[in-house]
Amino acid sequence: MNDELAPLARGQCPDCGGIWFHLGPRGGASRNVECAGCASRFNVTPWYGRVIFPQRIPRFGEREGPHWEEGPAKLTDRRAMP
Ligand SMILES: [Zn+2]
Repeated sequence: MNDELAPLARGQCPDCGGIWFHLGPRGGASRNVECAGCASRFNVTPWYGRVIFPQRIPRFGEREGPHWEEGPAKLTDRRAMP
């Protein structure tokens, strides 16, 4: 895992340390999320309360529409991140 993104494995934003994220579109096992604190966006794959394969994605477009859920939620919450 990219060291810079390592905090995401624990559900923490690597940029601001926040733990709350807006949940975005799913793609297979992964989904896009946006940090509720600093608006950085990442693609993450939840795995039993952990995050694996985190990737930084560009902030492109508004966080709205049917693919973004009301939130925010914790990435480590298995009910929010099935
Ligand atoms: Zn953040």
